[in-house]
Amino acid sequence: MIARNSILSHHEMCENEFGRMLQAGMHFRPNGRTSIFLMSTRSNAPYNDCIENEGRVLIYEGHDAKRNSVEGDPKTHDQPSRLPSDALTENGKFHEAAQAYKRQNAPAELVRVYQKLYPGVWAYNGNFRLVDSWREHDGTRKVFKFRLELVADQDQHVLTDEELTHSRIIPSSVKVEVYKRDGGKCVKCGRKDNLHFDHDFPFSKGGTSILAANVRLLCARHNLEKSDKIE
Ligand SMILES: [Zn+2]
Repeated sequence: MIARNSILSHHEMCENEFGRMLQAGMHFRPNGRTSIFLMSTRSNAPYNDCIENEGRVLIYEGHDAKRNSVEGDPKTHDQPSRLPSDALTENGKFHEAAQAYKRQNAPAELVRVYQKLYPGVWAYNGNFRLVDSWREHDGTRKVFKFRLELVADQDQHVLTDEELTHSRIIPSSVKVEVYKRDGGKCVKCGRKDNLHFDHDFPFSKGGTSILAANVRLLCARHNLEKSDKIE
């Protein structure tokens, strides 16, 4: 199992999802497996995602209409809940799942979230529970929003405040800044594979916001050595 905040190539990410070729942003229960969201949050990214509640909650924006299904720029059209055939889009499927959870008709949908940092460089953000969804007007059109709550990878329990101190979501701007600053290498040995974003600064010692200064790149070995020392 890949650890949260690991850095992956696109190929490694697809391998981790049973070889599925991941291109689109939203995948509702692909082949009956765990649902997947891909995030892209750089300044020129097509979607706005944001982190709330001190790194516990991710707000994910839905997908646009397919380019060939609308006239002109899909960004000027409402995000669709249904296809022209009337079948639900991924927006529609996740929206129904979130609303069913809110009505207490179903357990929360589990969603694994990956984030693109650069072309070919992805970070695994972990497992989340889909707890809410809504449509809102962004000034131009209606978009879907999905509220995701971080849960433990092993048994999907909602993280306690204690657990959150060393595993909250690292903002994308920080990830991109750290990756660039550390040159895509472990700061201790220079390895370029099996990298992780490491919080180099315990939250218990102050600060609730994650800054690039508190995060660094470590390879699997140095990341493990560090966690051994903590325990
Ligand atoms: Zn290393």
